[in-house]
Amino acid sequence: MKTVWEKYNAKAMKDVMAVSEDYKSFLNAAKTEREAVDETIRLARKEGFKEFKEVRKVKAGDKIYFNNRGKSIALFVIGKKPMEDGLNILGAHIDSPRIDLKQNPLYEDNGLVLMDTHYYGGIKKYQWVALPLAMHGVVCKKDGKTIKVAIGEDEKDPVVEISDLLIHLSRDQMAKTGAKVVEGEDLNALVGSIPVKEKDEKEEPVKKNILKILKEEYDIEEEDFISAELELVPAGKARDLGLDRSLVMAYGHDDRICAYTSLRAILESKEPERTSACILTDKEEIGSVGATGAQSAFFENCVAELLAKTDSLDGLKLRHCLERSCMLSSDVSAGFDPNYPSVNEPKNAAYLGKGISFNKFTGSGGKGGSSDATPEYIAKIRRILDKNKIVYQFSELGRVDQGGGGTIAYILANKNMDVIDAGIAVQNMHAPYEVASKGDIYEAYQAYKIFLKEMA
Ligand code: MN
Ligand code: MN
Repeated sequence: MKTVWEKYNAKAMKDVMAVSEDYKSFLNAAKTEREAVDETIRLARKEGFKEFKEVRKVKAGDKIYFNNRGKSIALFVIGKKPMEDGLNILGAHIDSPRIDLKQNPLYEDNGLVLMDTHYYGGIKKYQWVALPLAMHGVVCKKDGKTIKVAIGEDEKDPVVEISDLLIHLSRDQMAKTGAKVVEGEDLNALVGSIPVKEKDEKEEPVKKNILKILKEEYDIEEEDFISAELELVPAGKARDLGLDRSLVMAYGHDDRICAYTSLRAILESKEPERTSACILTDKEEIGSVGATGAQSAFFENCVAELLAKTDSLDGLKLRHCLERSCMLSSDVSAGFDPNYPSVNEPKNAAYLGKGISFNKFTGSGGKGGSSDATPEYIAKIRRILDKNKIVYQFSELGRVDQGGGGTIAYILANKNMDVIDAGIAVQNMHAPYEVASKGDIYEAYQAYKIFLKEMA
């Protein structure tokens, strides 16, 4: 089979398009990791999932989720077999590269007010200037109140922007290397230019006006930025790309595309043999660190809590459960780009429209940092994929020694379980707008469902 498109009849095409419509709605609702958790909970509750603390005894068929600080989440559908026999786990990350506000962001410069930022994740900084940005996040007040912020998504909302130098005066700038064309400390977002009316306000009158607006409209004071988490992301909605509408262009495919497809698979998991799990994690883009990253004890704690409420928890049962588990660590992979063919080795590149993309290993410089799935495990996966006519490809992230990248695969593999990277090829990874194929989204979603049901 050449591409996914040759597989679909008219009815299947409708289904493929419908799944991507739903995916676009998910993306529009989930532009940050927090919003992704909120949206996940909303969808899960609709399907009958309950939060763990609402559950007294855990039994087969139960649908349960754990919310970790509103920034990462784990969902489970309890299987007929004991959990000690292992889980079928889907994992993806819900944080994406973006521009975070600093803790002391506001300043005025020659009648303009700007907000200072610190970018999050690996970005080509020059891609993030001269485009409309929305501000999403939370401001936590000392009195315990949390103000949710989302400014710039409604067409009537204002947006903010990081400027770029006009081409007319860019002789020096254009001679710089790509990494230096726009520098990190120069990523300052323009947020206002009208001074307050009061005559005695000589010092920073424009900043004072912005503070007045923040106070009046959002109840935010300047000091509150210290306990805020505000993220600038490209403003606007996910869109169809291509005259044939075969692709989706959107902010945050990496990795909400795998989060959405994994989530949808577990929401549809009904009374599985082995317990289904889905972990949607934060902080992958900066090393999977911290309480809400994949390296956190969170997931293991969830499994321990479930075991304790199933029959009995002894430490050995938890160890058995983890080492007998199988996981698809799902993350985007580098889609072959006809504009830049030289970075790939064609036999082992991932192609848009050729189905879900597996990486036996990731890493860089001689597979460095990769967990490298076993061929025994890959053979089992091939068996269930082929049986169910899933379109899939095996690829690497670029030519040997061209670069590389990591995922959360090794972190779960370190718990002594079988893990392989399985995801979706995208173009423009980490750019403000990324591109993916609707056919690959559909194949990934089908593959995840089959994995939860049939992997033994
Ligand atoms: Mn990723
Ligand atoms: Mn990434």
